[in-house]
Amino acid sequence: MSTDPHPSAGTPDLVIADARVRLPEGGWATGLAVTGDRISAVGAAGDVVALAGPRTRVVRAPGRLLLPGFQDSHVHAPFAGRNRLRVWLNDVLGKQAYLDVIAAYAAAHPDEPWIVGGGWAMECFPGGLPRREDLDAIVPDRPVFLFNKDVHGAWANSRALQLGAITRDTPDPSDGRIERDPDGEATGCLHEGAAYSFNDHVVPAPSRAEWEASILEAQRHLHSLGITGWQDAWVTPATLQAYRSLAADGRLTGRVVGALWWDRHRGLEQIADLQAQRESASGAAIGSGSGVAGFFPTTVKIMTDGVLENYTGALLEPYCDGCGGHTDNHGLSFVDREELAAAVTELDALGFQVHMHAIGDRAVRNALDALEAAQGANGRNDRRHHIAHVQVVQPEDVPRFGRLGVVANCQTYWAKPDPQMEELTIPFLGRDRADIQYPFESIRAAGARLCMGSDWAVTTADPLAQLEVAVTRADRGGAPFLPEERLGLDVAVDAFTAGSAYINHDDDGGSLAVGKRADLALLSVDVFADGYVANGRAPLADASVELTVASGRVVHDAG
Ligand SMILES: [Zn+2]
Repeated sequence: MSTDPHPSAGTPDLVIADARVRLPEGGWATGLAVTGDRISAVGAAGDVVALAGPRTRVVRAPGRLLLPGFQDSHVHAPFAGRNRLRVWLNDVLGKQAYLDVIAAYAAAHPDEPWIVGGGWAMECFPGGLPRREDLDAIVPDRPVFLFNKDVHGAWANSRALQLGAITRDTPDPSDGRIERDPDGEATGCLHEGAAYSFNDHVVPAPSRAEWEASILEAQRHLHSLGITGWQDAWVTPATLQAYRSLAADGRLTGRVVGALWWDRHRGLEQIADLQAQRESASGAAIGSGSGVAGFFPTTVKIMTDGVLENYTGALLEPYCDGCGGHTDNHGLSFVDREELAAAVTELDALGFQVHMHAIGDRAVRNALDALEAAQGANGRNDRRHHIAHVQVVQPEDVPRFGRLGVVANCQTYWAKPDPQMEELTIPFLGRDRADIQYPFESIRAAGARLCMGSDWAVTTADPLAQLEVAVTRADRGGAPFLPEERLGLDVAVDAFTAGSAYINHDDDGGSLAVGKRADLALLSVDVFADGYVANGRAPLADASVELTVASGRVVHDAG
């Protein structure tokens, strides 16, 4: 039993007893007390319950597991929340199912001038390419624009293409592609920059109120999954304002680090704007220190390449053609190698954390080179830079993460054999490169820290589903994908709690100890029980989160 003369000590507001309470460094307890926004005691259940007063809520939780609240180190909360409030295709699968959802939404919202949302999967369409005619058949009169679940492409109907003035004469942008029929006519599928610029310049921008509602919808969902903090991997000036106002009036109950979006069409001159955005959201109104829940736009997100499924991930050697031959396509570097190094060096010098998207082996190498250049110029510091996705990593780059102090931001849910991997990725990578994907355990074993995040709404936000794949590298019951890269359960849980808290500069969260902020997730099952993870099986996704506490407040209660 340990108590502490912390300012918040006093009669607890909440006691959780009889659960297995996972403490840092392998320790265990059976009781934990919360007073105000702090953990005020951990110890034996009887001792902690003895602290309770008449107004204390005592939760008896035998057979349950108490963990620190999960922190998602890479999530797109405003966009996911907005789609959940509009056309949300993530929960169904298949072309006809998508069309049914879209048609139902359009019928239920006859006054909405644009039908927007997203979440369709490339694997549901021949060659990964949906067509405008299917949308025209159900919504002929209003524009429809739907991002795919990767947000690397979009599906538009003829009316939308017409409003965007996309014709056979429209050239492809430098950072994307308009999918076309042999006669040059757009098919209704826009890739990368072609989709983004359509979204930014043709689709009406959401209002501040809509962004706020979207973030709150996302927050509700994330809290229901035990998530108490996150890093938003794509903060725009509009979503920054929405986060700011939610933090200022207390509606933001999660602790959020915002990664400000690096505009690949601009150069280093945009850094002054990023500084201004960071400054605009600092100050007492949104929390005065790293330990306070609030909004902290202290990171810059640089998308260095695309994704492999549409051949925009940056590779050192060209893509295969799917039939065993080679192409001359190396993918895209959205920011060229020298400019990336210059940008990262300057951002690092100005105190920004840099969060880079890197999928292909060339992108991962360029990102590591840029961080090495920054370290050479500015010295080692505590910015805690990280590289997300790390899909194809050449073996000689694996030890560089640990050596440079770069954190690998892992989307473990993607590291399994599924149609996206088997049909859309491996044939175009070839065998050798297929076998160096998502080398999370190798990166860890070579001395690097890991953090974990979902990239929701790309794939599920559920940490338990992601942890299951992290420790099995398989779909339930299926064959594993590179099983030597499985993470231990303790390593994976630490990555999704303490590791992500580290990346969020949240030294006050991410573990259960007296005096820390009370961010808690009570799981329905003790997944650390003997035999729960055995023989490559670990049914974590069957567990659920019964209670989520953020900064001492109950923000989700399934009971
Ligand atoms: Zn992302």
